[in-house]
Amino acid sequence: MDLSLTDSEQALVGLCREFAQGEIAPRAPLAWDEARCPTDLLREMGQLGLLGMLVPEEWGGIGMSTVGFVAAMEEIGRADQSVAAAWQAHVTIGSLPLYLFGNDAQRERWLRPLAEGRVLGAFGLTEPDAGSDARGIRTRAERRDGGWLINGAKTFISNAGTDMSFGVTLLARVEPAEGGKPRFGSFVVEKDTPGFTMGPKMRGIGWRGLDTRQLYLDDVMVPDDQLVGDPNMGMSQFLSALEVGRISIAALSLSLTQAVLDLATAYARERVQFGQPISKFQAVQFKLADIATELEAARWLTYRAAYLRDTGRPFLKEAAMAKLKASRVAAWAASEAVQIHGGLGYMLETPVARFYCDSKVLEIGEGTNEIQHLVIARALGC
Ligand SMILES: Cc1cc2nc3c(=O)[nH]c(=O)nc-3n(C[C@H](O)[C@H](O)[C@H](O)COP(=O)(O)OP(=O)(O)OC[C@H]3O[C@@H](n4cnc5c(N)ncnc54)[C@H](O)[C@@H]3O)c2cc1C
Repeated sequence: MDLSLTDSEQALVGLCREFAQGEIAPRAPLAWDEARCPTDLLREMGQLGLLGMLVPEEWGGIGMSTVGFVAAMEEIGRADQSVAAAWQAHVTIGSLPLYLFGNDAQRERWLRPLAEGRVLGAFGLTEPDAGSDARGIRTRAERRDGGWLINGAKTFISNAGTDMSFGVTLLARVEPAEGGKPRFGSFVVEKDTPGFTMGPKMRGIGWRGLDTRQLYLDDVMVPDDQLVGDPNMGMSQFLSALEVGRISIAALSLSLTQAVLDLATAYARERVQFGQPISKFQAVQFKLADIATELEAARWLTYRAAYLRDTGRPFLKEAAMAKLKASRVAAWAASEAVQIHGGLGYMLETPVARFYCDSKVLEIGEGTNEIQHLVIARALGC
């Protein structure tokens, strides 16, 4: 396995580093404090081509490899996790269902503006009564003359309610197959569709810049051409987009761990207690060494899952392992990094405190870590 980056991947990393350090790092903390999605930054990322990361040039994207995307995420997420969270949701689950399962007319109409960074994409699976149990969704789409009538509710949906959002691609239950087997269809619902409304932006412990809301569908009528893909395959199509989403959350976790390692190391070297920098105390050194080692282990799992996807091989188990390991490492490392900062690490004025707040959700989103365990155990034959 050769994980050295190609010239185009390296160029992308350079571009992302420059934008992350020059624009995101100085501007995003204010948006976090104000709990506002910084769509100004996301629009600028769109102009740089970063919103069409995994979409081929034919459809307005830059056709980057998954390995390149992970490497780019290491730069973006180190600067700010909310921007990175919104970006990755757009790039993976917000865009990929349309690319992978849409027809050419649908790709032209919705995927191209997403990939060109003119609008932001959202993915609507979770419901108030169906999170981990995706097959338990109740949102229903009923066949009507020339279209589908959708009723239901979604919750925790990211990117659907910003001034840059176009709507959502959501999953709904459709008429069961013969024999009663449940079927699910993916539908594009545009934001101005009558009957489609949203709750206010929800307030999280972290990712405060991410726009996450409840969506309500009351007699929402969409025409036939807004059904994406095959209703017989609707659930597996939606879940396959989540597989890439898991690599993406693993990458986001790497970026957070690197950020808190850098912050804690720098602080330990400058903070003096008992007449010497605290980095001279073995207890502090061991924490930093452990974080660096665990980060490296998580990094290898994540790049390997990305490499498997890029080389057309199955990556379900590896993506679950990468997400499980990297998110655990991130949540633990953020806590250790706060500890190294002492009282200062507890104050939201410091970047390490914000990263600490941002770290918990990595163990929950795109399938909780318990669900990653189930995926891995199933792959082992349990
Ligand atoms: C900030 C944020 C953004 C999000 N963005 C989106 C989005 O854009 N689109 C979207 O569709 N969803 C989104 N989600 C939803 C997210 O994917 C769900 O929160 C997640 O899948 C868990 O579902 P739940 O919250 O209903 O928890 P539940 O499924 O109710 O789980 C509660 C607890 O029970 C455990 N559990 C459940 N089933 C099992 C089992 N079989 N075995 C062992 N333990 C189990 C879980 O691991 C968890 O610890 C977002 C969530 C957050 C917090």
